[in-house]
Amino acid sequence: MKIMVQKFGGSSVANPERIKLVAERVVSYRKKGWSMVVVVSALGDTTDELIALAGQITDDPPAREMDMLLSTGEQISVALLAMAIAELGYRAISFTGAQVGIKTDKTHTKAKIIDIDANRIKNELGGGKVVIVAGFQGVTEDQDITTLGRGGSDLTAVALAKAVSADACEIYTDVEGIYTTDPRIVTEARKLKAITYDEMLEMASLGAQVMQARSIEVAKKFDIPLHVRSSFNYNDGTLILKEADIMEDFVISGVTLNKNEAKITVCDVPDMPGIAAKIFKEVSKSGINVDTIVQNVSRKGYTDLSFTIPLGDLAKAKSLTEKITKFIKAGGILVDKDIARVSIVGVGMKTHPGVAAKMFEALAQKSINISMITTSEISISCIINKKNAEKAVRAVHAKFGLGK
Ligand code: ASP
Ligand code: MG
Repeated sequence: MKIMVQKFGGSSVANPERIKLVAERVVSYRKKGWSMVVVVSALGDTTDELIALAGQITDDPPAREMDMLLSTGEQISVALLAMAIAELGYRAISFTGAQVGIKTDKTHTKAKIIDIDANRIKNELGGGKVVIVAGFQGVTEDQDITTLGRGGSDLTAVALAKAVSADACEIYTDVEGIYTTDPRIVTEARKLKAITYDEMLEMASLGAQVMQARSIEVAKKFDIPLHVRSSFNYNDGTLILKEADIMEDFVISGVTLNKNEAKITVCDVPDMPGIAAKIFKEVSKSGINVDTIVQNVSRKGYTDLSFTIPLGDLAKAKSLTEKITKFIKAGGILVDKDIARVSIVGVGMKTHPGVAAKMFEALAQKSINISMITTSEISISCIINKKNAEKAVRAVHAKFGLGK
């Protein structure tokens, strides 16, 4: 029995017509002899709409109730897809996360999967049914419904692929795969045949929104190859694999852009041991993810310290930082919402020198000023002014010859 896990994102099941097309695709694999486990997201923008709905009741919904609400989105799609498959004359059965034993911790709205009991799925597959599982959700040991963070259906798919020892895992979306950069910004952007887990992870965390980052971490951990492809045609997409399995050899795989960050600068911070620890301990305690941190050269016992945070956390981070600023007797804070992060990603930079210089040169040639720089083993990021964001992406993409 060869098992395939297929995951369909919200745009792939946005309306009844698309759901019927998904059913046809699933059945076409079933006909070829595959045992099918199908994970679906909520229809179209349902999750966003549910969040907005909650927002009309309260600014601060209890996380448990938020999960109760958001998990309904996926429950609609699994039922409709099961009906569509039955309509084609094939047997299918839909399940919530709880019903198939997706056990999570209690961190509502971003729960971690602890364990999956695959028995129920395997039994149904053994009986010849297509098993359809609601993405993005699980259940705690106390039987409370949880969700796995935005885009969490990807994680459901990967975790299920592991749990049932799937032979293939396909992630269907509204783009044809992973591109060298966003084709809406650069028309010459090229679809990649394959990319490593690490590159994909880096691209996801840097702003490319094709797959949820945590799902890729899990795929990497268990070495589950993924095939990201479009649900609107039958073309091959992009494979996500371990480095050793990649045949092509480009220095840089992609250029990403993230416009959802803000920069906070704490001015005139007393330059002495323990101060940075104090600031970032407080910020992280509140669950805010600090990204790039830059501390300037100190002058006369004082220094400036800048860091970036997700734009959505700005209000919280700002009030928190203001408090700390008083406590540590720093001068004050500055907030900059007009920033963008342009990054290049590629495992090839581990072995090729001069990659950073080439990126800075591309920006310099367009007179784009860099305000912060960070690097990892396989990426280089520059924080620039938001107004130059697209221009910067085009310049860097061209400089590395990534286009068609
Ligand atoms: N529906 C959820 C979301 O929009 C989960 C998913 O799409 O993967 O985040
Ligand atoms: Mg979605």
